[in-house]
Amino acid sequence: MAEQQGEQAVSSLCDQLQMTAEELKTRLAFLSFGEQDGRNLVEIRDVIASHVEEIIGSFYDHLLQFEELRGILSDPALVGRLKGAQRQYLLSLGLSVDCVEYVEARLRIGFTHERVGLKQKWYLGAYHKLFELILQRLAVRYPGDERRLSSLTLTLNKIITLDEIFVVETYYHATMQRLEDSLSQLRAAHRQLEGLSRRDSLTPVDNRRALMEALAMEFHRSRRYQHPFALLFLDVDSFKEINDRHGHVFGDHVLLHIVQLARGIIRPPDIMGRYGGEEFVIGLVECDQSNALQIAERIRLKIAQEQCMWEYHSTVVTVSIGVVMLSPEVEQVEALVTRADQAMYYAKRRGRNRVELYNKGCASENQPR
Ligand code: GH3
Ligand code: MG
Ligand code: MG
Repeated sequence: MAEQQGEQAVSSLCDQLQMTAEELKTRLAFLSFGEQDGRNLVEIRDVIASHVEEIIGSFYDHLLQFEELRGILSDPALVGRLKGAQRQYLLSLGLSVDCVEYVEARLRIGFTHERVGLKQKWYLGAYHKLFELILQRLAVRYPGDERRLSSLTLTLNKIITLDEIFVVETYYHATMQRLEDSLSQLRAAHRQLEGLSRRDSLTPVDNRRALMEALAMEFHRSRRYQHPFALLFLDVDSFKEINDRHGHVFGDHVLLHIVQLARGIIRPPDIMGRYGGEEFVIGLVECDQSNALQIAERIRLKIAQEQCMWEYHSTVVTVSIGVVMLSPEVEQVEALVTRADQAMYYAKRRGRNRVELYNKGCASENQPR
């Protein structure tokens, strides 16, 4: 059943499984592997060499009695390769067993079987079958010499057990690796989803949830350290008309156009997000009132001056902007947004395409936009 893996194999399975020369020595000692076993292995390999085709033949006859294995072994070319690899495996059984290279080759065989999907139950069971088949040949070679036979059997048992331990370890290692791969894929997908759910579906700015989170953080930080913080509430003027005249798709492009222009004016640490349909909120970090008004005015002017073009559509679009400064009596960021909205509404009332700073008078205006 053994098939050596190609050069694509993991460079050193021994390294991955921390199988050092010292570790191997300990394992052999644990199995009470001694000089007699080394001598016995020479005889065992000699018996195997005399009967190798017979052993392989019987082994495969046994495997093919099981439907699941017949399925795996239905390709004659694969079976040919497997038999060739098994021949090599059998003829080198226990040869230089105290070298890490021996273990590397054994681990690689296990790794290959795991990769082709052979279940561990078959693989471990197959070792028992091999043990039995080799033992039968040993019994024929040493009839009546029970002491000799029992010593050889013990050695054979040790060397097969060593291989079986390797099988269990490679299968466990491969399973753990697959789990770790799945876990890192899951983590990446989770990060991607989190990123997606924070991003507005149309424009390259935060969606409302992410916007409010970012604003709240900055709001509380600024309040605590008494740093200036300004909010801009921006609403596209007569956007419904633009949609009606040029269609909704063009309307979408207008929103993108506005976002690009506004983003080009604010600084990287500033916050910008889509609050609703054609409404955007901007948080200006470390920004005093006169700067906030200047920035709002630059955004308004830039948008009013830049023609928005897409395919054969073209329009000039304007925005109304409400500005509010953080002040001690405002305790929640939502209240600050409401004030900025009221200032924006005031700008609408005063003719649109305007910037208005929040004052108590804005709040008293209560007519629908
Ligand atoms: P006002 O100047 O008073 O703000 O007028 P307005 O037409 O901009 O305001 P109104 O609230 O009447 O209409 C807003 C329009 O924005 C209606 C809605 O269809 C449109 N809208 C909202 N979200 C989107 C979007 O994602 N894409 C497009 N193309 N249109 C949108
Ligand atoms: Mg609106
Ligand atoms: Mg509007």
